Amino acid sequence: MQTTMLYMKDNYLKTFSAKVIAVGEGFVVLDQTAFYPLGGGQESDSGTLTYNENVLTVKSVRRDQGQVKHFLAETESLPKVGDMVECSIDWEKRLIHMRYHSAIHVLSKYMHIEYNADVLGNNISTRSGRADFDLEKALTEEQLKDIEVGVNKIITQNLPVAINFMPREEAITFLKEHGYQTDYIDMIPSSVKIFRIISVGEYDFASCAGTHVANTSEIGTVRITKRRSIGKGKERITLALD
Ligand SMILES: [Zn+2]
Repeated sequence: MQTTMLYMKDNYLKTFSAKVIAVGEGFVVLDQTAFYPLGGGQESDSGTLTYNENVLTVKSVRRDQGQVKHFLAETESLPKVGDMVECSIDWEKRLIHMRYHSAIHVLSKYMHIEYNADVLGNNISTRSGRADFDLEKALTEEQLKDIEVGVNKIITQNLPVAINFMPREEAITFLKEHGYQTDYIDMIPSSVKIFRIISVGEYDFASCAGTHVANTSEIGTVRITKRRSIGKGKERITLALD
């Protein structure tokens, strides 16, 4: 049995009930979850799982095939298969991840439009967000300032960030038409029949399984805190949010 990933449709779900469908060493698998598992450059959620008045700590969450494993800090009084549990995600932490993830999408599109740069990878944690780009030359201080101003200009337009689902072929055509980088589309396994598309107003459309804010106004102000070369033709930009 697989885990239904509730966060795919609703990024603002903070509490939910679920049934335990498997128990392993230090972890439980639930029939459904709002906990985001580590992946796509985004750190996993944490939170609590309450069972028979025992409040257990969910310290990390991992995806394994179609199941989601919730790793617990406690080793005793764990629920059993078939038990119902009440779950609550650490919302403060999740909201920071959502703000960073949406900010990284805007930055990536900005870099694509202004510098014709493809994004090579990204990382979203509670402390910072960063993305790597293929750029021939190192970015100058002046360019970084321009990027910061440009990204904030998009964000302050208070654009809605929406989740939509589209059949694979339709999504591929749609994404290509909307300037999404083709090599990212090629990386999506052929087993994925329905694409989850995150749109930022009419500015950006991306295939993404991460968690996002509902409007760019929630991101706040983006500050570029660091740039460095991570190899020939590869630039890393690190952001902080104010
Ligand atoms: Zn994403």
